[in-house]
Amino acid sequence: MQNKKSEKKERKMQKTFIKNDNSFVCVNCGKEVPPLGYSSRNHCPFCLCSLHVDINPGDRASDCGGMLVPKQVLPDAKKGYIIVHKCTKCGSIRRNKSAKDDDTMLLIKLTNPDNGWK
Ligand SMILES: [Zn+2]
Ligand SMILES: [Zn+2]
Repeated sequence: MQNKKSEKKERKMQKTFIKNDNSFVCVNCGKEVPPLGYSSRNHCPFCLCSLHVDINPGDRASDCGGMLVPKQVLPDAKKGYIIVHKCTKCGSIRRNKSAKDDDTMLLIKLTNPDNGWK
């Protein structure tokens, strides 16, 4: 399987932060997620799962492609909630700000690490 050329068309790098706010279908819960509007959406508001596709937010520069699952949510006085994601494929930990339409009950539930994905 060396035929990777046709999969990805050559993309030119632009700025470090690329607004990449498109609707997508969540790989975990299968719900359609609409664009966020004010920033790049990087996780599903229903189950908080995400995909390991970025190195810098929105750049889609990581070729890992593993699923990022929420391990814990940290309340932050200034930023609201910080979601700690762990990649199921490569094991890397990422922190993401929650979005305004994230499931608040789920965020609160995950402030207890015992409720996070194992
Ligand atoms: Zn989801
Ligand atoms: Zn990964």
